[in-house]
Amino acid sequence: MKSTMQDAPLLIRDIIRHGESIYADKKIFTVTPQGVDEATFFEVSKRSERLAAALRRLGVGPGDRVATFMWNNQAHMEAYLAVPSMGAVLHTLNIRLFAEQLAFIINHAEDQVIIVDSTLIPLLAKVRDQIPSVRHIIVHGPDESGVLGETIDYESFVMSEPAGFEWPDLDERDAAIMCYTSGTTGNPKGVVYSHRSMWLHSLASTTANSIAMCEKDRCLLIVPMFHVNAWGAAYTSFLAGTELIMPQMFLQGEPIVKMIAQLRPTISLGVPTIWNDVLRAAADAPDADFSSLRGILAGGAAVPRVMIETFRDRYDVDVFQGWGMTETSPLAAVSIPPSGTPIDQEIDFRVKAGRVVAGVQVRVVAEDGTVLPNDGKTVGEFEIRGPWITGAYFGVDDPDKFRDGWLRTGDIGTLDGLGFMVISDRTKDVIKSGGEWISSVELESTMMAHPAVFEAAVVAVPDDKWTERPLCCVVLRPGMSATPEELRDFLAQRVAKWWLPERWTFVESIPKTSVGKFDKKVLRAQYADGALDVVVIG
Ligand code: AMP
Repeated sequence: MKSTMQDAPLLIRDIIRHGESIYADKKIFTVTPQGVDEATFFEVSKRSERLAAALRRLGVGPGDRVATFMWNNQAHMEAYLAVPSMGAVLHTLNIRLFAEQLAFIINHAEDQVIIVDSTLIPLLAKVRDQIPSVRHIIVHGPDESGVLGETIDYESFVMSEPAGFEWPDLDERDAAIMCYTSGTTGNPKGVVYSHRSMWLHSLASTTANSIAMCEKDRCLLIVPMFHVNAWGAAYTSFLAGTELIMPQMFLQGEPIVKMIAQLRPTISLGVPTIWNDVLRAAADAPDADFSSLRGILAGGAAVPRVMIETFRDRYDVDVFQGWGMTETSPLAAVSIPPSGTPIDQEIDFRVKAGRVVAGVQVRVVAEDGTVLPNDGKTVGEFEIRGPWITGAYFGVDDPDKFRDGWLRTGDIGTLDGLGFMVISDRTKDVIKSGGEWISSVELESTMMAHPAVFEAAVVAVPDDKWTERPLCCVVLRPGMSATPEELRDFLAQRVAKWWLPERWTFVESIPKTSVGKFDKKVLRAQYADGALDVVVIG
């Protein structure tokens, strides 16, 4: 029997229509060197219509790739709205990639147009002569350098056409936006999101069992708009009436602390390394004021327990941990403690990677493909499926990443009967010591609770007797000291004896990936090259 429901496609243009009418006066704030720019949803929507009209006149047609090489700002939001809704595909380029990787993904995606922030021109200039598919470069902001050759000025371009562009009827399964994985090994791989997948992902982000983005919220968007669609927040904002604060290049602890006090967000999204820096800066800022925040979403890497405790105890701010990947749009699990959890036990849930969000399914699987029990104890690889999980990569076959319609995540851990996921490692980061696994994530989280430790990363290094053993790389807080013996004693009270690292090194900073996570590949290479000063104890 057929249903009687209307068959309306889920299109991003209807997210725009909803936002521009129902939440017309809500605002997008952009932090600039001169101050804070503001525009209403209505204004941003009208400007996106002008942008779409201008792109159409430039020759951008259905399915053409329009890339952005931009900070988080209002113009980037205009591209997010205009490009997919006109039937083209938005490709968000990671501004922190090495030149070769940047050229690789532009060529692989066959981008035809790039919109670039003028402050980022020197980075794009490095690859300008290696990207033949790019026909036009549109520059947002003043540019007198001329290093990109002939360019188009964004502001005049947008203003060259009237508002009122008629968003076309599209298929909800059409490509809307694409993003490449950060590619810690091998070439980055493209994931192509549809209108439908973005719609469903945005709806999920408004549910109270996830991050509950709503009309009462103002979201400080620290996560870059090139890192998995800013974790979906751009579209969720128009869908839910959530205002956005765009920090552009002001991403260090000090300016973020000021932004929070001045612009009073209710929620903010970012990776743990940023939140660590925010806590550091806030400790030295007498005017730090986090009272507007109802919570922060930290994800993309494990969130150390001490960070969650510090936000709670010092600032009365709840940390929600989220788990996801470029391949999962990304939000797939959020760690909200279940009802009835005593306050003093909430932390035990917040330290978990997340609880599976309605719409996606997660399972834990052994190396031979056997599905393992959801008992919170049995360790295996997470596999995931659902309407906002990728079923393939763009233009490349990678059969090893999929099994019977499930995406193999490469993350190792446990799943319990309530749907809480605990990540112990990436498959490539796990430490195999004497046939047993040591969780680098747990060692790091425990080590970071030591008062003298600012950051700690643990990587596997070869060992004659045990095959692999952990190497603990520590960044001390300024003005503080600790010996490897002291740090090892601290761990000894909290983890199994056979986990305790023998090898220790103190470093100025932990190398970070292009999206701000610990870059363990670089640490392993530095160790192999003898570039680290390693002390062996125990
Ligand atoms: P990306 O595609 O760059 O977003 O990276 C995705 C990977 O980040 C996942 O496969 C995990 O290894 C890691 N990740 C994301 N969220 C978490 C989390 N809450 N805890 C631990 N690892 C995480």
